[in-house]
This record gives sequence, C-alpha cells and structure tokens, in this order.
Amino acid sequence: MKEKIGFCEVCFNLAEGPRCTICLDSRRDAGVICVVEEPGDVIPVERTHEFRGRYHVLGGALSPIDGIDPEHLKLEQLYARVTAPPEPATPVREVVLATNPTTTGEATALHIARALHERAPGIAITRLASGLPVGSDLEYADEVTLGKAFMGRRAV
Ligand SMILES: [Zn+2]
Repeated sequence: MKEKIGFCEVCFNLAEGPRCTICLDSRRDAGVICVVEEPGDVIPVERTHEFRGRYHVLGGALSPIDGIDPEHLKLEQLYARVTAPPEPATPVREVVLATNPTTTGEATALHIARALHERAPGIAITRLASGLPVGSDLEYADEVTLGKAFMGRRAV
C-alpha cells in the first residue's frame, strides 16, 4: 500500500507521514526558518545548497482582491512556531522571508515582518536580496541567482 501524501504538521511542506523529511532531519537547523508560499518553492531553495534550516509553507500569498486574507494562510502556525517552537524545542534566531518577488509576495513578506517584530522582538527577520526577476516565481529562478539572493539577505 502506498503512503498517502499529505502536509507536514510542522511546516506544511508535502509529507508522507506526519512530518516532512526536512523537519525529521536533525542535521537541519531548526533555529532558522525559511518562509515560502508553496511546497514547490522548497525545491529551488534546496537546489542552491545555501540553506540548512527549516521551512514554513504558507499555502499562498496575501491577495485581498482574490479574497486571500491572513486567516487563509498558515500565518498563526508560523507565529506559534517562532514564539513557542515544537518539540524538540530549538529557539528560532532568524526567519527568512522567501516569498515570491511579486506584488502579493512582497505584501505578504511585509505583513509577516510587522507581525513578527511585534510578537517576537529580538528575532532577525530577513528578506532575500533583490536580483531575482521581479514579478516571477521563486520556482523559475536559477540556482545561482537564488543562491546569491540567499547569501545577500538583509534585515527587514
Ligand atoms: Zn516539515
């Protein structure tokens, strides 16, 4: 019998069991969380080999025009992870906002940055450096460009 694919209970990436392979990997730094819009965005970031932390998949981007409001994304789950990390609890030091370089992606990053500054002061909130093709999806960025954007991330 084939295991059904569902969502990781911690990060909402695709998973074959309750947790995804990245959340189960103890070598991955749980103190750094990379926030992406869709499970498909995890793959290009993994390809850069620049990131050894964990992920948080939002399930989309804020878009009031399309009726996508904060409660439709996994935002509260992200805030809970940052303020009260799941067992084995590792304090979160940095949240990297790797939403797409689109209008909705930028708005989502700004929304999260504001909320985290308020709820978890002292944690570094960073955004990927510019250089990614504006208006495109992370999925289509080549690994060199995305790797550079990761290395050059700045506090927001
Ligand atoms: Zn996971």
